Amino acid sequence: MRMFVAGLGTETNTFAPFPTAEQGFRETEWFPAGTHPEHATFAGAPLVAARDRAARGNHVLIEGLCTMAEPAGITTRAAYETLRDRILDELRAAMPVDLVAYYMHGAMIAEGYDDCEGDMLARTREIVGAGVAVGAALDLHCHLTPQMLEAADVLVAYKEYPHTDILERAEELIDLLMATARGDIRPVMTLADTGILAMIHTTMEPVRSLVDRMSAMEGRDGVLSVSLGHGFPWGDVADLGTRVLVVTDNRPARGAELALSLAREVAAMRGTTDAQYHAIDAAYDLALADPHGPVVLADKADNAGGGAPGDSTWMIARALERGITGMAVGPLWDPVAVRTCFDAGLGARLALRFGGKMCPLSGQPVDLDVTVTGLARDAHQFLGPARADLGDCAAIHGSGIDVVLTAIRTQAYSPHLFRNVGIEPAERRIVVVKSTQHFHTGFAPLASQVIHVGAPGVVAPDFENLPFTKMQRPRWPFDQGEPEIRLLVG
Ligand SMILES: [Zn+2]
Repeated sequence: MRMFVAGLGTETNTFAPFPTAEQGFRETEWFPAGTHPEHATFAGAPLVAARDRAARGNHVLIEGLCTMAEPAGITTRAAYETLRDRILDELRAAMPVDLVAYYMHGAMIAEGYDDCEGDMLARTREIVGAGVAVGAALDLHCHLTPQMLEAADVLVAYKEYPHTDILERAEELIDLLMATARGDIRPVMTLADTGILAMIHTTMEPVRSLVDRMSAMEGRDGVLSVSLGHGFPWGDVADLGTRVLVVTDNRPARGAELALSLAREVAAMRGTTDAQYHAIDAAYDLALADPHGPVVLADKADNAGGGAPGDSTWMIARALERGITGMAVGPLWDPVAVRTCFDAGLGARLALRFGGKMCPLSGQPVDLDVTVTGLARDAHQFLGPARADLGDCAAIHGSGIDVVLTAIRTQAYSPHLFRNVGIEPAERRIVVVKSTQHFHTGFAPLASQVIHVGAPGVVAPDFENLPFTKMQRPRWPFDQGEPEIRLLVG
């Protein structure tokens, strides 16, 4: 069997005030054909899975570009078309193939393209024709569209948020596509809309049990794969919504029945699936009242993983005003401040201005007398099996607060973020992480409690107040009343 595998994705925040350009891909995950490392990455998880299958089955694997950009504002037309066409040219050169598998985020929006994945899958189908197995592994924060389903044979979304199952889902995708190419299965995809849009934390009930039941349904009664596309609430497109995707082995009636019943279940969970958010002062009050610690405060609104700048200073500024000490904060994106710390050197004392640069929602820059307490070149952190680069990092300490400054815009995944530069988060009273939920796997085990903060920011939790223009209505929580559950494909 000849397989072609590549990856292209980002999660576009149409409300973020800075664009995603090719440089954003090149500095987040950028692996030209044949250069992907052995460890899993977001963009390369299907490639890592395919390498394993190819080696074991004596198949031919042709590798394409695998790349992903840290989420930001709308992707430039030039960036999308350049990267898409590069991968499609690689596919043409690899022909004939039996199987095409992609990593795609599923929520990439470019100038002129509200559904980048639907566009790229359709162009892929044009190249390979019918009879070739085509599919993609998606982030669960995807906009599942009928166009994507029409062009692909199999789509599989992550089930876990935090996304700790990227490699398992990639393996599932490759195995299903190989079975399709062999003619062992005939996948039929069904898509149902729940009528709602929700942030869904799969670590909490009732969703935890639902996800476990979805997994248990697979491989039985002709059901091949069950995915819940949560949707990404900060991407304003017509297909924005929480949707259920069921792949059966040519059992369309069973697929439709299951997709609709799961959609009804998810709709009934509305209002129970997101974290509870506290204002900054209330969050600090709760943290200071905790006799144990460390208390982990999640600054969701400035999560770079949702397209925020990652340079907001609201939490630090308020802590300085209140005289809160024993606190560590990270990551804070400020490449100029990182450069300044490297120039000053380890142990240097200086008056540093940092943060608060990208937009009004970033707050004001902080001016603080600090000591440079840690420096690390090309550091990284982990989300499950995936290794994510942090670039150059600098730790500063001033007025009882430690801050990890990063040269690359990213969110907090694991305590390596702090330990790389000599800060032990378990020894701090309060740890502020810029992240919505991915921090949970790495930080919850060392926390006495986790508190979600609703500070100002580009990804503030109250998305229902954003000025949507394209999303189809009615949809909870924008519209009240019973959600409209309907079959979109199947
Ligand atoms: Zn996601």
